Amino acid sequence: MTERDSFQSARVLETARQTMMDIFGYRDFRPGQAGIISSVLAGRDVLAVMPTGRGKSMCYQLPTLMRNGLTLVISPLIALMRDQVSALQAFDICAAALTSSDSPAERETTWRALDKGTLRLLYMAPERMAVPGLAERLGRAGLSMIAVDEAHCVSQWGHDFRPDYLRISEFAQAAGCPQMTAFTATADTAARRDIASRLFDVAPEEFILGFDRPNLHLAIAARQQGFKQVLGFVKARPDRAGIIYCASRKACEDLAEKLKAENICALAYHAGLDAETRSRRQDEFVKSDSVVMCATIAFGMGVDKPDVRYVIHAALPKSMEAYYQEIGRAGRDGDPADTLMLWSLADVALRRRQINESEAEDDRKRMELRRLSALIAYCEAPQCRRLTLLNYFGDEIDPCGHCDLCDDLPRLMDGSVLAQKAMSAIARTGQRFGLEHLVNVLRGLKTDKVLTRGHDALPTFGVGKDLSRHEWMNVFRQLFAAGVIDQPIDGYGEWIITTKGKEVLFGRSPIKLHPPRKTRPAKARPSGVANPLLSDQDRALYSALRKARLALARESRKPAYTIFADRTLIEMALNKPATLDEMAKIFGVGQHKLQRYGAYFLSVIDTAEGRDR
Ligand code: ADP
Ligand code: ZN
Repeated sequence: MTERDSFQSARVLETARQTMMDIFGYRDFRPGQAGIISSVLAGRDVLAVMPTGRGKSMCYQLPTLMRNGLTLVISPLIALMRDQVSALQAFDICAAALTSSDSPAERETTWRALDKGTLRLLYMAPERMAVPGLAERLGRAGLSMIAVDEAHCVSQWGHDFRPDYLRISEFAQAAGCPQMTAFTATADTAARRDIASRLFDVAPEEFILGFDRPNLHLAIAARQQGFKQVLGFVKARPDRAGIIYCASRKACEDLAEKLKAENICALAYHAGLDAETRSRRQDEFVKSDSVVMCATIAFGMGVDKPDVRYVIHAALPKSMEAYYQEIGRAGRDGDPADTLMLWSLADVALRRRQINESEAEDDRKRMELRRLSALIAYCEAPQCRRLTLLNYFGDEIDPCGHCDLCDDLPRLMDGSVLAQKAMSAIARTGQRFGLEHLVNVLRGLKTDKVLTRGHDALPTFGVGKDLSRHEWMNVFRQLFAAGVIDQPIDGYGEWIITTKGKEVLFGRSPIKLHPPRKTRPAKARPSGVANPLLSDQDRALYSALRKARLALARESRKPAYTIFADRTLIEMALNKPATLDEMAKIFGVGQHKLQRYGAYFLSVIDTAEGRDR
């Protein structure tokens, strides 16, 4: 790039930033956005892989709004399209969706806007590309760019393959569309190659932005008193929207009931509910800013809610991929959000049994088991969680300073003696017993089982008196994660010593462990949500602002976040704008929202601050 070019592109970017500020009220680009936006503005074809919540849509919305012409957005999820359209309309942008569930009146309005040339963004499901003449009609309406959302759906290798996505290139040609852009959060090298070859005539400019979601705090703890741990976490984050993933339908229902009994606004969601109840509850969750959804993994895909403040896994997730996708539903607005996974070795045994008893081929089963091991190793990671998580996805980072392990700065110690005690309990009892019994032997408890087996006579009996039951459980989990002990897949829960374990048992190789933990207190850390900058007084104002937002949202039947994001209200509570000009400087207050809501929120601040006008 020549000096002149780079000067020009800096100018273009500054204009783009200003436009984003005017329309959306966002001051700065998120990492990666600037590069993509300037490339799109220069008319180039682009393929971008960006983690969820980084703001993919801005990369095609903003360029569209900075020039003439219509952008067609292909997206596979109807609910998501509708949410995007209503979010855009909240910024006074002319956008519409063309889906199979439109009423004739809705469709009529869309066509009229298209023919008048006022429509800027049209969202469409891929199957509609088959409608004869549609491409030509969009071409005549000035189609200047196609943005493909969830672009990995074009790849036959992926699990989300959508045959209709294969029509996109042909459709673009028929419409005479000059520019193609594609976005996805998940695409490995093979999928990227697929996308590039199926969607683009010539190689697109690629942007790969890594997997990190720095605003998510990561934490994992052993599940010990299940409900109490969940409740403590939820109560530390009052009136916040959260998702709690549960292992079964019944677990969802039970948890929601128990939370309700504690005056928490909780709902259950799973595939066993009828479609109407499901969609009503999903809607309630999206629109409110404080519902806690107790859900199976049936919930989440296609739910566009940027202000989810936490995700809890009440039990071990299916895999690292699933875990990453599920925690990714928190904090998509970029504000701090928390995650917590609770797990136990019983979850692991259950998952193993499920894999083992499934109909799958042996190869597949072995792969599933390997993925499970990776997940367990993550749970008992010796260092920064984020580092372990991102390493799994091929990203390299330094320790993050924003996870439970970085918070605690855990020291590793020589765990050889502890490991030898645990393993000798396994060996001396003949590698035939489960965790409870082994821990009882170590702690010298004369239970019926210990006595009938004569295990109180073993040299190992009572050698681990100094540790509590929970601490021993923690040691076993660490040893398991380190691969020194194992449970046979076709067994019934008994523990055995691996080859690697024998090296440790016989003192031939040392092992490092964390000091055994009772439990990691899930709420020790103050919630990232209650902004530490807010004083008690500001907090009162913040909650008045949230109330006002909720009232507006109810009245207009729109999700609360489409009125203002949490961060916008936090800034208002901190800065207490007194005029519309001051209000315009607040994050997330663009011109349209200023006109629409500015005076109202000023009056809320005036009242709370006792200011007269
Ligand atoms: P995803 O990458 O998951 O598709 P979205 O495009 O839905 O994410 O964006 C997530 C949220 O972030 C939206 O509410 C969007 O308005 C907001 N957003 C996008 N760009 C910015 C920015 N530069 N500053 C602040 N918020 C932004
Ligand atoms: Zn960390």
